[in-house]
Amino acid sequence: MSHLFQTYSRWNIHIKKAKGTLAVDESGKTYLDFVQGIAVCNLGHCPDQVTAAVKKQLDNLWHVSNLFQNGLQEKVAEKLAANSTGDLVFFCNSGAEANEAAIKLARKHTQKTKIITFQQSFHGRTFAGMAATGQEKIKQGFGPMLSGFYYLPYNDPDALKTMEDEEGIAAVMLETIQGEGGVIPANSEFLQEVQAFCRKKQALLIVDEVQTGIGRTGKAFGYEHEGLTPDIITVAKGLGSGFPAGAVIGKKGLSSAFSPGSHGSTFGGNMLAMAAANATLEIIFEKSFLDEVCGKGEYLQKELESLLQFPLVKDIRGKGLIAGIELKDPVQPLIEELQNEGLLVLPAGSNVIRLLPPLTVTVQEITEAVQKLNNVLTRHTAVTQ
Ligand SMILES: *Cc1c(COP(=O)(O)O)cnc(C)c1O
Repeated sequence: MSHLFQTYSRWNIHIKKAKGTLAVDESGKTYLDFVQGIAVCNLGHCPDQVTAAVKKQLDNLWHVSNLFQNGLQEKVAEKLAANSTGDLVFFCNSGAEANEAAIKLARKHTQKTKIITFQQSFHGRTFAGMAATGQEKIKQGFGPMLSGFYYLPYNDPDALKTMEDEEGIAAVMLETIQGEGGVIPANSEFLQEVQAFCRKKQALLIVDEVQTGIGRTGKAFGYEHEGLTPDIITVAKGLGSGFPAGAVIGKKGLSSAFSPGSHGSTFGGNMLAMAAANATLEIIFEKSFLDEVCGKGEYLQKELESLLQFPLVKDIRGKGLIAGIELKDPVQPLIEELQNEGLLVLPAGSNVIRLLPPLTVTVQEITEAVQKLNNVLTRHTAVTQ
């Protein structure tokens, strides 16, 4: 028997080794990996510069308490601040923890408690993360949730009107593209309404960039496409290239709410994680690198649009190198057929295939992946007709 809690319905694939876009399983079969640890390995598997930085740090110092000065944390924080609307950073180890900290920061700073989030959102599995998440299935069986959360329809510019007279709103929290919810990009009008609402109600704007941040959409952060000025930004997934790391980035006006003793984490900003994050951001936050991601993203979207010829394919969505293919049917059987074909992809919701190639993917690899999608959809169409 397995001695693991069966919290995941795992695929029957055992990855043994991986480099860049390619992953090899036990039997020696090679896959184009468009999962990359779920938007984690943004520089591909085992990227040379990050590997070298972590190896060097391994021989020097693994961990010191946050009671000591930490020059590496300072370096990573400086990069995050220089490339965002924020000024100050708190380090943690995951996306859920980053959102947890963001919610604590927003409540303490505003001295208000209500948080508005959106339907189909995903913000993590801790009690505050679950409470913030606009999906019932995530919360089932866990008893009373943290109170004070309101779930509005996503992408509806009028949705906030229902909250206009509500007092005590600390923050509005959202993803600029709902990743787990089905690769649903927010529309500009909606985002501008959200920002205007926050200003009017003196509520903080929290953008959850855990999946869309760190170059995924072709900008350092997804909100930049819409010119938003969030008060708080949360990141994790891609930050450490696979080394666990998360962060909350906030405006300097929030500093007094996170004063000594107010929040903390033993492992947050760990030396090895920071060595990985520093090397990762050094590459990804270069303008020329991000410009290339934009170009490859446009190519991917254009190639995927050719799949709309299949009656099963309903919609193609995404930005940069996060893409969704919405089908008329559940995607699980296709995901397994794609694995046989040598392409690893994710579901998002029940009807969307999600593609998260590394940001270092080549145009040729994109072409190959779309060809594999084409092959599987062609076979599938032939079988079901
Ligand atoms: C993955 C994800 C999280 C949770 O991150 P963990 O590291 O799994 O805790 C939170 N928000 C968004 C948008 C995510 O995609």
